[in-house]
Amino acid sequence: MKKTIALLLTLLLVFSCVPMAFAANGSLLNKGDCSYGAYKHVFILGVDGAGNYFQHADTPNFDRIFKDGAVTNTARAEVYTDSAPNWGSILTGVSNLRNMYTNGNISPEGDEPPKIQHMRKYPTVYNRIRCAMPDAVLASFGNWSAINYGIVEDDLDIYKHNDPTDEEVAKSIVNYLDEGNKPTLLFTQFDSVDHAGHTYGSDSELYFNQIHVVDEYLGQIYDAIIRNGLLDDSLIIVTPDHGHKAEGGHGRFSMRESVITIAVAGKTVKKGGTMDKDTRNRDVTAIALFALGIPKPLDITARVPANLFNDYIGEVRPIHRDILDAIISGVMWIYTLSTKDE
Ligand SMILES: [Zn+2]
Repeated sequence: MKKTIALLLTLLLVFSCVPMAFAANGSLLNKGDCSYGAYKHVFILGVDGAGNYFQHADTPNFDRIFKDGAVTNTARAEVYTDSAPNWGSILTGVSNLRNMYTNGNISPEGDEPPKIQHMRKYPTVYNRIRCAMPDAVLASFGNWSAINYGIVEDDLDIYKHNDPTDEEVAKSIVNYLDEGNKPTLLFTQFDSVDHAGHTYGSDSELYFNQIHVVDEYLGQIYDAIIRNGLLDDSLIIVTPDHGHKAEGGHGRFSMRESVITIAVAGKTVKKGGTMDKDTRNRDVTAIALFALGIPKPLDITARVPANLFNDYIGEVRPIHRDILDAIISGVMWIYTLSTKDE
């Protein structure tokens, strides 16, 4: 009996992980392509609260940036679909059970810095890059200042800049690039789509209109990347943290809150790639490190999805490093699947 149960558990584990990671279709190798370390610049452009709704909005800039790139509209946020848990996971590559960020404990209005510092057992992708590349140029922009206050480290020579509106955030980034800065990693968070989501819900024209507005800012940044000669060596990622309920709001487990778009563009990215079904927003950390040629830290559960790079088959998620998250994520995903229409 015990043997049978062990066998069943093993089979479950194998069949739940392996096919997702190795279901990459299409070619594995293009001559001359080597994605690992092929990039000098990674741009992580975060759109708070946009879920997987780019596909339903008028987004001419998103479309041109990713026309030769890979896009999934079925990636998953952290189980707890609040902002800090998800920006925390996007930037650390671990689950929210590990990074333990909440909106309260990263906010300037929340706990004092010492408590936040104490929680930084898992450093951000900035820290990983700084360790591997002492001369890296690092920049973090944003609208919601709590990210730069509570998640992005202070002592790593990171250029940090917050603006009160998304329009100004975009302008600041464009100016930064036009001044000749060549960031190894530039992250930003746009906040206005989340505000529209809270006010109008994810079923409203006004929400889609705001995605269209932020799409214009993505286009301005993209044009600055081109204008300053950075495009060939850049990997560009757009990711929301979570979505919104039809009536607005997030933090729980429905499909609308939990499923997000992740889009990646770069010279070795697979055109039309869809990434695999197990793609999580925390994987952004692994993708960024891979693109810059930095070995993946052994304490994270982010991994490079299948069907993303031309020459790389992708990685199995090392769930043994965070078993509790694997169980909770799995169980809650079954629940989320039952909430499709909410
Ligand atoms: Zn958010």
